[in-house]
Amino acid sequence: MRIVVLVGLPGSGKSTYVEKLGVPAISSDAVRGLLADDPTDQSIHARVFRVMRYLLRQRLEIGRPVTYVDATHLTPRERAPYLRLGHLYGCPVEAVYFDVPLEVCRERNRGRLRVVPEEALERMAHKMKPPTLKEGFSRITVIA
Ligand code: GDP
Ligand code: MG
Repeated sequence: MRIVVLVGLPGSGKSTYVEKLGVPAISSDAVRGLLADDPTDQSIHARVFRVMRYLLRQRLEIGRPVTYVDATHLTPRERAPYLRLGHLYGCPVEAVYFDVPLEVCRERNRGRLRVVPEEALERMAHKMKPPTLKEGFSRITVIA
């Protein structure tokens, strides 16, 4: 089994990537939609991530070979829960980092149905800490 954590700004191409791979992913937007009937509701953040981790644990317990987790996952702190779960279930945790410039994300964001406010995107770009092996990832793939 393995866990694949996607890391990237809104508009960096995370959801498109898993869609192209044709694999299912645990997506924060999808969970937000399930809980609040609104994939943009940011007021239930902690709850959304608890549900995502719960779903991941269920998948690990039934032995699904691979689970992709689709959210921005900007900081080591946001990624640490997956590394803990990987440790708990004895499976490697990989990261896929979407190293896409803010300007490109901004451009793609503008063209989307569900537009993230520009200030929020900028704030997130400042917060972004690319994933490192030191955090415990077994592999980091960079998509530029
Ligand atoms: P996410 O917020 O990281 O999940 O980003 P999305 O996968 O939703 O992509 C945001 C927008 O960028 C969408 O309109 C995609 O069609 C577009 N997009 C995603 N990946 C690429 C890419 O590799 N090249 C180009 N040109 N556009 C892309
Ligand atoms: Mg997405």
